[in-house]
Amino acid sequence: MKPDARLLATVKGFLAPEEGERLYDLALEASRRGPCLEIGGFCGKSALYLGGACRETGATLFSIDHHRGSEEHQPGEEYFDPALYDPRLGRVNSFSTFITTLEKNGLTDTVVPIVATSAAAARSWATPLSLIFIDGGHSYASAFTDYNSWAGHIMPGGCLAIHDIFMDPAAGGQAPHQIYKMAVEGGLFKRLAMTQTLGVLQRRAVGETPDHR
Ligand code: MG
Repeated sequence: MKPDARLLATVKGFLAPEEGERLYDLALEASRRGPCLEIGGFCGKSALYLGGACRETGATLFSIDHHRGSEEHQPGEEYFDPALYDPRLGRVNSFSTFITTLEKNGLTDTVVPIVATSAAAARSWATPLSLIFIDGGHSYASAFTDYNSWAGHIMPGGCLAIHDIFMDPAAGGQAPHQIYKMAVEGGLFKRLAMTQTLGVLQRRAVGETPDHR
């Protein structure tokens, strides 16, 4: 069942409804083959869609986030939200909001939070994944780390979705677009249709050769 629209409206995040519904559809299909994983859980908006699909199929969604906020969420930056600032810790802390979102939506048995950087979480990872959603930091360093640490864990035929892809540099940062292009040009992935700024790629099957373009 897709997440409830009224509940979704209460969850902070930057995912458009059409993008979320695409993620739900992709995960509903992919998660029959294995667990899904997202990078950048933030307050749980994408986890509602991806986790909602995984709950349908009895699969697991791993959700990685250090929950300290990305570069643009820090005090003084464009997307700083005082409600997510924890004065006791002296920093942004989105984890309690994330957990509350899961609890309100009955997802605690489906979504497994991993509170760590994506590089640390990847270090000992060995489980093939049916779908990965990259929606972490927008610096080149963060985006490249997310891609390089995780793309190889996607099973053949599995899905890689990347958020915030702007073809026009004037419209937004280019790091997500760069890793999207890297994935295609490296020959490991092929393009599927995009939904707004959500890029969707599919890992080629074993033995499938890239098209000559
Ligand atoms: Mg995003």
